[in-house]
Amino acid sequence: MVDATFKPRVFSGIQPSGNLHLGNYLGALKRFVDTQNEAEFETVYCMVDLHAITVWQDPAQLAHNTRALAAGFIAAGIDPAKSILINQSQVPEHAQLAWIFNCVARMGWMGRMTQWKDKAGKNAEAASLGLLAYPSLMAADILIYHATHVPVGEDQKQHIELTRDIAAKFNHDYGVDFFPLAEPVIEGAATRVMSLRDGTKKMSKSDPSDASRINMTDDADTIAKKIRKAKTDPDPLPDSYEGLADRPEARNLVNIYAALAEMTPEAVVADHAGQQFGQFKPALADLAVDKLAPITTEMSRLMADPAEIDRILAKGALQAREITTPILKRTYEIVGLVASV
Ligand code: ATP
Ligand code: MG
Repeated sequence: MVDATFKPRVFSGIQPSGNLHLGNYLGALKRFVDTQNEAEFETVYCMVDLHAITVWQDPAQLAHNTRALAAGFIAAGIDPAKSILINQSQVPEHAQLAWIFNCVARMGWMGRMTQWKDKAGKNAEAASLGLLAYPSLMAADILIYHATHVPVGEDQKQHIELTRDIAAKFNHDYGVDFFPLAEPVIEGAATRVMSLRDGTKKMSKSDPSDASRINMTDDADTIAKKIRKAKTDPDPLPDSYEGLADRPEARNLVNIYAALAEMTPEAVVADHAGQQFGQFKPALADLAVDKLAPITTEMSRLMADPAEIDRILAKGALQAREITTPILKRTYEIVGLVASV
């Protein structure tokens, strides 16, 4: 449990490493909006550009993606008057605390992370040092706000556990009770949306195949085509959700439907029992277009005025620093770093 002395505060982020996709929306962004609208939490949401550069990003494309991601957040319902909306690199305390955490966390902890193994692949020697240290920066992102809750997709659970380990080791090493043990919030029917081409791989921005994901910028025809071509099996939908246990692609489409329609997957299966995918896929495509088109339209409207997006992010950075500056100052004091921040 999070110590009651910490104010309930939510932090989460998305990398501007490509196009926002349906997995990001259902697993993260939609959940951010729900949390923002719950009165008990203060909410801080972030474009994590410093995480994005752990793998190569074209500079002009990165700057574009960061603004497009901010537009996506706002279009999906993040209200800069209710949430603090920031770009990570504009709040330098994230990176400053990350360095201290690099000195708290152990090499072995980093090497065991699934994301590191997946992204570094067989050629770990050639991966950036930043990619290995990624979870330490992520811990700093969360803990520089003393955040207590972190809504994420299933794939990030391990990194939140590591964040707790870093907080606990810092508190123990320095004999303080300064950083909270933040809790992951992994909820809903689509905490792990899978690739449309391979039901064993998660949908990702960095997947080279565009057909593997539905981008939030895709038009209605593209969405319908990608769903029509999504990998499935020849069987009809079963009459209970358990019947999908060994059918990852079919289960994925049912979970997506459930999350979009705000139904349980069990209810979706009950409604569509016995249907072939030739019937179910067009229903899913209609639903997806219905839910995503207004967001896509609003995103492109916002992108027509990048200066306004920059203004929102600059204001968010000022608000954020009111929280992060005193927390970093106190951290420096605890560690014995004589520095004015
Ligand atoms: P990359 O491939 O560059 O890592 P990504 O698609 O994994 O990009 P991230 O920016 O790393 O996206 O993750 C942002 C948030 O979206 C995280 O909370 C993550 O758990 C969530 N998320 C990412 N992919 C999925 C998915 N397929 N299903 C559900 N949630 C997801
Ligand atoms: Mg990722």
